[in-house]
Amino acid sequence: MPSEKFYVLPQLPYGYGDLTPYMSEEQLRIHHTIHHQAYVNGANAILKRLEEARKGNLDIDVKAALKELSFNIGGHVLHSTFWGNLAPPEKGGGKPGGRLADIIEKEFGSFERFRKEFTQAAVSVEGSGWAALAFCRILGRPLIMQIEKHNLNIYPAFPIIMVLDVFEHAYYIDYKNRRVDFVEAFWNIVNWDEVGKRLEALLG
Ligand code: MN
Repeated sequence: MPSEKFYVLPQLPYGYGDLTPYMSEEQLRIHHTIHHQAYVNGANAILKRLEEARKGNLDIDVKAALKELSFNIGGHVLHSTFWGNLAPPEKGGGKPGGRLADIIEKEFGSFERFRKEFTQAAVSVEGSGWAALAFCRILGRPLIMQIEKHNLNIYPAFPIIMVLDVFEHAYYIDYKNRRVDFVEAFWNIVNWDEVGKRLEALLG
């Protein structure tokens, strides 16, 4: 079975200690090597289980398998997106430029208003989840969305250009229960260049 048929944990584009003081080395290392790896392993295990069931023509609980698969693939894809939209504080943070800045200003009125709405989306996700900046190609408008757990069914096929993980495992070592402090810290390590490139790829 060729290995490219299965998911692999991507390498981070920076070192584990490079996001300090906003995200500690221990926090990032555990998040990447334990939590993200678990979604990769979980997705691959279900894919293998499905393959074996098909080969042997065995009965399986399709609904349960697909739910588990969606949870794990969602976790893998969102974490991969998240690592890419972070950068060490000397390179990240501040404000976006280019067409990303224009599109945010046009939609939200100002960067400050966008930052406030995105922060509120992240802080108020019920239980575990994500805040995401997505882009609707039908209207050419950016949209903020909340993702509960790893549910990607909310706006099918709306590409996500920036996410923030607000599962407790993303911040508990550094911030304990203070999610709002973690969300504030996030703004210092946003890789606006990368978010802008993702938007450019969609705009063509
Ligand atoms: Mn996570």
